[in-house]
Amino acid sequence: MKRKNEKTEDVKRWFLREAERLWPLALGSVSLRRGRCMREHCSACASGEGHASWALSGRQGRQRFSVYVPQAVAPEVQQAVEQGRQLQELMREAGQRYLASLKRARGLGREFGRKAGKR
Ligand SMILES: [Zn+2]
Repeated sequence: MKRKNEKTEDVKRWFLREAERLWPLALGSVSLRRGRCMREHCSACASGEGHASWALSGRQGRQRFSVYVPQAVAPEVQQAVEQGRQLQELMREAGQRYLASLKRARGLGREFGRKAGKR
């Protein structure tokens, strides 16, 4: 399918196919944080060093969130965040292609601006 003639439905199909390929998805960031443990006599905590653990954090609307990520799944979550960024790029492209398809469907071009061949 050529982009030049694609219809709104084509853009949708293309987008959903690409989005499915990008799963798993996450938005936010995965980072190491330091915290205290539950043990009563812990030398790491007593020294102020604490324990490092991964967390997925970001914003959900106006709220900040931070969720513990077990070490064993940290690479998967990191990957999901990377693909989440790619999905944002995909949406940027989808919006432009969607708009182009709407304009084609309704025969709407530029109303203002340059016209070829006229000075
Ligand atoms: Zn501790």
